[in-house]
Amino acid sequence: MNADTATSGVSERRVLRIAVPSPLRRLFDYRPPTDHSGPINPGCRVRVSFGRREVIGVLVEQIPEALSDCPADKLKPALEVLDTVPVLDPALFSLVSWAAGYYQHPLGDALHQALPVLLRQGQADRFQHQTLWRASSRADLSALPANAHRQQAVLALLIEHPQGISTDALRAEGGDPKLLRTLEAKGMAEAIEQIPRLPHADSQDQVLLEAPLTLNDEQAAVVDRLSDTTGFTSVLMEGVTGSGKTEVYLQAIQQVLERGQQALVLVPEIGLTPQTVARFKARFKVPVLALHSGLTDRQRLDAWLWAREGSARILIGTRSAVFTPLKHPGIIIVDEEHDGSFKQQDGFRYHARDLAVYRAHQLDIPILLGSATPSLESLNNALSGRFEHLRLTRRAGKAQPPRFELLDIRQQALDAGLSTPLLARIRQHLQQGTQVLLFLNRRGFSPALVCHDCGTPVDCTRCDARMTLHRQPPHLHCHHCDRQTPIPMRCAHCGSDQLRPAGSGTERIEDRLQVHFTDTPIHRVDRDSTQRKQALENIMAKVHRGDPCILVGTQMLAKGHHFPKVTLVAILDADAGLFSADFRGMEKTAQLILQVAGRAGRADHPGEVLLQTMQADHPMLNTLVNAGYEPFAREELRLRKGGHLPPFSNHALIRAEANRQGLAENFLLSVREWGQQYLPEQAQCVGPFPALMEKRAGLFRAQLLIQAGARKPLHQALALLVNLMQEHPEARRVRWTLDVDPIDS
Ligand code: ADP
Ligand code: ZN
Ligand code: ZN
Repeated sequence: MNADTATSGVSERRVLRIAVPSPLRRLFDYRPPTDHSGPINPGCRVRVSFGRREVIGVLVEQIPEALSDCPADKLKPALEVLDTVPVLDPALFSLVSWAAGYYQHPLGDALHQALPVLLRQGQADRFQHQTLWRASSRADLSALPANAHRQQAVLALLIEHPQGISTDALRAEGGDPKLLRTLEAKGMAEAIEQIPRLPHADSQDQVLLEAPLTLNDEQAAVVDRLSDTTGFTSVLMEGVTGSGKTEVYLQAIQQVLERGQQALVLVPEIGLTPQTVARFKARFKVPVLALHSGLTDRQRLDAWLWAREGSARILIGTRSAVFTPLKHPGIIIVDEEHDGSFKQQDGFRYHARDLAVYRAHQLDIPILLGSATPSLESLNNALSGRFEHLRLTRRAGKAQPPRFELLDIRQQALDAGLSTPLLARIRQHLQQGTQVLLFLNRRGFSPALVCHDCGTPVDCTRCDARMTLHRQPPHLHCHHCDRQTPIPMRCAHCGSDQLRPAGSGTERIEDRLQVHFTDTPIHRVDRDSTQRKQALENIMAKVHRGDPCILVGTQMLAKGHHFPKVTLVAILDADAGLFSADFRGMEKTAQLILQVAGRAGRADHPGEVLLQTMQADHPMLNTLVNAGYEPFAREELRLRKGGHLPPFSNHALIRAEANRQGLAENFLLSVREWGQQYLPEQAQCVGPFPALMEKRAGLFRAQLLIQAGARKPLHQALALLVNLMQEHPEARRVRWTLDVDPIDS
């Protein structure tokens, strides 16, 4: 597009259409800045005044003034153009635009979220330069005055560091940085600007640091399939835990590196552990960057820039890494592709796996999705031929698959959730010198504190939920709104002092285990026990020493970790998700069970997995543990198809909340009435209904589900609905959000 500015005639004047980070789903028009000359390209950042604020927007296009909706006398000039070259390359720009449209999210905010924080704030897209000091060619110690000891000391340090030294390093070595200017004035010292360097940045020819393993034929089939093509292919690799999926990723990446390209690896939030990153770094002699939450904004921007200029060769990150710019993209890998953390749950509700597939298609490169328990969406894509489906059915090396057993606890006396046969089995494994892992997805001591006299539980005043009892330190905690209170002495209903814990969380299990196994170390792993820095690493180090011990923990234990000495995994409450109102409850339960089970017997110790259940006859549970994930998933898909549920239909969920009961539901009721006019015929509105937990953090919540067979008409209708909701007279009292392809209901 030809940009012409103030120099042209009035009739040809152009207007900048800018995506501004705001909840409004539209673009805003500005004149070019008054003092600006030269072209401005789409994708460049522009500082504008917006309401009473100044914000950073992104130029989407330029249009002739006559086409602007804004009257000429209302058009304000933009304040400043921040980039000459677009910060987002055209491909990323179109990825984000597509995603904003698909998820019905305002483009300005979507673009913002795709950028590193410092770029959102208007900083330049440049590396942070570090100033180093060194001695100049004219430096001469003997030319300094004999009594200028401090200057001599500084100059001596500069001479010792011919590559240059930072002021901090100089100070650390006893030099006074203030004297650098004095030496500079004398022509003896000079400052040089340097950008931070990546390890291995200049290793060209050799990409390997260690030899790859010899693949088994199943692994080799996946790597070969990927080496057959440099164009778009999507491969779903369904591989049981321990089958060597990571080795396949490494060898697929090796091919890409040898062609001089980059690899983008997406992992779940919980999977970006130092161990994972270490495996990539140990294999390759190329810059490997992990985009983890511990990075400062500055480090994150540098990583982004290294990716964009192509010097970072392997990028490993969680959800938002899908927006990392790549100069020479070669492959995208999504590990644990079924993981829920790939879907953003607030604001811009994109699914990083789905965007990754879109991006691979757009870049015309292969994408490899790996999981032991693929999502039913991906499995359906594989069964219908959209994805290629390759399987790793055996554990790599000598490891044996674990043996499953359903432990029927219907007639059993439980000690705070531990059955007698389970306690006996734990003892047996400890005596043979191995380790035990107990899984319970509930932290705290007990999920409720209940009056023994009248049965009233202690509820959160701001949520329809029980307060969780914690003992370390003693307090009540609402896990939904984070409210914390001291433990009450008396029942608020009847005044009795007989308040007792009901049910077990990880703290209570830990407590009971200490009574039963006095000589065995017990390690609890949950969000509470790992708050302090290094706490998790310390526990892992103890477990990896290999002495008998018991691990008790939540989700945090389920993924990413390898426990070679664990031979017994027990799932204390296998029924927790079986009867959930969410139609995905069964799928999620199965994925979690297999994920936890995968921790057992990874080395040469055969493992066993015990599931404590009241539903030992449950058909799906039996299919899962006796036949495995794929038969289970096929059966589950059959049920979904019968019920016209995703992936056989498309869902969009409108959630609304307000501070008075009924407001949100009324709002959704009127949305539904509109919807009936706009939605395609086959689409159905279900609800509005109060949310499962109607009151949360003081707000009353309701939801309206829209279900449709065809995606395109659904999306057209949603775009209209979103505009109507935005203009709704109640929209000031009701906060609403739209979730396209929700994964939680
Ligand atoms: P997954 O990611 O599927 O759970 P990993 O890639 O972590 O499995 O592999 C499990 C173990 O098997 C690792 O210790 C790995 O080094 C080993 N392994 C993987 N592939 C092979 C192979 N082809 N030959 C021998 N050992 C292998
Ligand atoms: Zn009471
Ligand atoms: Zn609460």
